[in-house]
Amino acid sequence: MDEFPDIRTGFGYDVHCLISGSGMKLCGTDIPCDFALSGHSDADVALHALTDAVLAAICAGDIGTHFPPTDPQWKGADSRIFLDLALQLLAEAGGQINHIDVTLVCEVPKIAPHRDNMRESLAKITGMPETRISVKATTTEKLGFTGRREGIAAYAVATAVIRNAS
Ligand code: MG
Repeated sequence: MDEFPDIRTGFGYDVHCLISGSGMKLCGTDIPCDFALSGHSDADVALHALTDAVLAAICAGDIGTHFPPTDPQWKGADSRIFLDLALQLLAEAGGQINHIDVTLVCEVPKIAPHRDNMRESLAKITGMPETRISVKATTTEKLGFTGRREGIAAYAVATAVIRNAS
């Protein structure tokens, strides 16, 4: 294996309930709208999926392993904290993210007007150029819980290069 670069692909998935409200955070970006996401932290479903993807690249469990939802200190927490820790663990393992791809699945809010801000936000958090950050959105044609506007789902893939891996 030594002669090949150690490339890892981590995958993450998360869902949060959609409720009426005055806005939400997605990818660390404030999205003004008539909806909100419920959850123990700030419920940034995209950052949660991405955190799991980064942790998966180094087989380091999931977001609940490191930040139990039963722990009151994470109530209302900025989800950037979760992703920052995952990136720190990756760095300690000799790794570096070189591409991320996030897909949001929802009927509302519309993602396209916020896509560039989301990519910029993820670039700031990860320290990567926006050219290596993909944010996509789709609907489920009104089918299922996302189609009924009961929740928003997020999928994330993180590609990492590990140096001196064991
Ligand atoms: Mg979550």
